[in-house]
Amino acid sequence: MNTKQKNIRNDFYLLKHNKVVYFDNAASALKPKQVAKTINNYYTKLGTNSSRGVYKLAYEVTTLYEDSRESVAKFLNCESREVVFTKGATNSLNIVATSYGLNNLKAGDEIITSKLEHHSSILPWVEVAKKTGAVLKYVPLDKHSRITVENFKSVCTNKTKIVALTHMSNVMGYLTPVKEICKIAHSFNAITIIDGAQSVPHLKIDVKDLDCDFFAFSAHKICGPMGVGVLYGKFDLLNNMIPVEVGGGMIEDVVNGEPTYKKAPFKFEAGTPIIAGVIGLKTAIDYINNVGYDFIYKTSKELKDYLFARLKELKNITIYNDDTDIPLVAFNIDGIHSHDAASVYDNYNICVRAGHHCAKPLMDYLGQIATLRVSLYYYNTKEEIDKFIAVTKAVQEFFNKN
Ligand code: PLP
Repeated sequence: MNTKQKNIRNDFYLLKHNKVVYFDNAASALKPKQVAKTINNYYTKLGTNSSRGVYKLAYEVTTLYEDSRESVAKFLNCESREVVFTKGATNSLNIVATSYGLNNLKAGDEIITSKLEHHSSILPWVEVAKKTGAVLKYVPLDKHSRITVENFKSVCTNKTKIVALTHMSNVMGYLTPVKEICKIAHSFNAITIIDGAQSVPHLKIDVKDLDCDFFAFSAHKICGPMGVGVLYGKFDLLNNMIPVEVGGGMIEDVVNGEPTYKKAPFKFEAGTPIIAGVIGLKTAIDYINNVGYDFIYKTSKELKDYLFARLKELKNITIYNDDTDIPLVAFNIDGIHSHDAASVYDNYNICVRAGHHCAKPLMDYLGQIATLRVSLYYYNTKEEIDKFIAVTKAVQEFFNKN
């Protein structure tokens, strides 16, 4: 562990005191003390609503709220009017499906998605297909279960209106070639919706360079607060969409009971917003930028190589994502149900994920009911991997499967 990593670990209570080996980062990253401090500061010293009051405190809160929007815009390389604050990636993806999908698709139109998707990326479109008569098509996965440009080309047609794909699989850790796919999709006039919930923690994102139409992520996966996320949308598209929720804070006027709505992004933020979360997101972005994506890439590569090398030393382990792009392994210990294994890991204070990972179509595709998933982030260490390997042997011994 180098000095930088040591300093980073000191920012996280659980890591500083070695309380657990936290290997469930794909579910949610841990939160540094700086994020907690921002939220605490809001609740103890501010606590007012934003975008409503004319007094100084309300103005201060509104400024912090809008500063966070600026910060997200810089983070994604877009304009701040293209940043909608939501409850999370799930909420963001549902907004696009409900607002854009239901109002623009008709029977026979095609929606391209994949079996690699998290339920939050695929199910909103399953519902749109049911309601509009549009047809869901899946990009065939290659032999490693990856989405490739060639396979995407094989399903994209003049009937394709929507392309809804994951940027990075939460089970396999595969990066989708989104830039090339968006280019092809646009040549057929299709709209692209990218689920960035797993890519944002690992990759510097530039939505202009990707040229996607919509992009969604959650704050909690980049060490930010729970319950807040982002929907990026190209301004003209966003601005022409009908709000999904209506209420306070998003109207321009109501004359004789007839409302007119504010422009994007405000028309998608009805009601009192998640103010502490939004302000905390800015601190999380500052934190990640301070850690630096170069450090994240370098650490991720080292951890990934070490994790796979060590896991492959063991017998009777089935790995499903041998050529993953991040330090994430989906595997099973032969003969042991993943939930049973996860409970034994927990006895040793190692947090790993077991189950279908909200990706049932992928589990069916892999022919598995469930897998174990170990997902690391920049604050994890080789020493923690050593402990995980030793405990994996103990799990095998416990169930007599070594
Ligand atoms: N998409 C992917 C790939 C995910 O991994 C997740 C969460 O695990 C989501 C979407 C949904 O994120 P949230 O639960 O924060 O809305």
